[in-house]
Amino acid sequence: MTPKQKENILKAGKIAKQIKEWIKPQIKKGIPLIEIAEKIEDKIIELGGKPAFPTNLSINEIAAHYTPSYNDETHANGLLKVDLGVQVGGWIADTAFSLDLENNEGNKKLIEASKEALKNAIKKIEEKNSLGEIGKTIQETIESKGFSPVINLTGHEMNEYELHSGLTIFNIKNSKIEKLGKGLYAVEPFATNGSGKVHDGKPSGIYILVNERNIRSPEARKILNFIIEEYKTLPFCSRWLVKKFGTKSLFALRQLEDNENLHQYPQLVDSAGSKISQAENTILIDDEIIVTSE
Ligand code: MN
Ligand code: MN
Repeated sequence: MTPKQKENILKAGKIAKQIKEWIKPQIKKGIPLIEIAEKIEDKIIELGGKPAFPTNLSINEIAAHYTPSYNDETHANGLLKVDLGVQVGGWIADTAFSLDLENNEGNKKLIEASKEALKNAIKKIEEKNSLGEIGKTIQETIESKGFSPVINLTGHEMNEYELHSGLTIFNIKNSKIEKLGKGLYAVEPFATNGSGKVHDGKPSGIYILVNERNIRSPEARKILNFIIEEYKTLPFCSRWLVKKFGTKSLFALRQLEDNENLHQYPQLVDSAGSKISQAENTILIDDEIIVTSE
């Protein structure tokens, strides 16, 4: 890792931390999700970064991949997970927190469980434990509070313009004796009172570039070129494109998806009526171990 790369990683982390502290007290029940997302994303740019992915604002049984559409009418409520990403020169800080907007004891306990699991997992990383030990700590912490970890959502390694690359950090006991080497990682336990396994829900409006192959439609080509230039291999959303090109970009996105230039992520949901909390921080392992987003 070059000094410049490290500088970018630390800067992204610092911006992410500042935004978390700034936005938290502003989020109240009833505020439109689109207002929260845009505030966060505008602030990232104001502070000298770029969004690394669309702000995820997932409520209750939706674990992840809910970002408001351009005409979204959802208002903040329930157990809200705020997952935000900052990138500087392609180097990412990925961080999340959960809020109880109902003054509900159950929500508060669930939020505490993922928060505590994250704290304990980071301690294990600092003590240079194996991936198996990290997963075990996360599972045991969440279970000790009477909840379950979501078993098919994981932490991940990150690289330049790559949100998910290399290693996977499981949130359950496993037999991996491998330790985390030098690199950039996101640790993200999810706690639930539901089944503990999320499935694919509705299309999210969050996309990623998978192939630059030619597309006939000039309008779709124009949008593809913009995506390649602006987002590279990081996720983006239809809301951002509508802002830039208007609603005609929605048709182009459909064409690009059909032509397999883009992959659209589904929302990730547990059973109806269940609730999920999340806590996430980014960790740089270099000569020292730094939690960049905290
Ligand atoms: Mn995240
Ligand atoms: Mn993540």
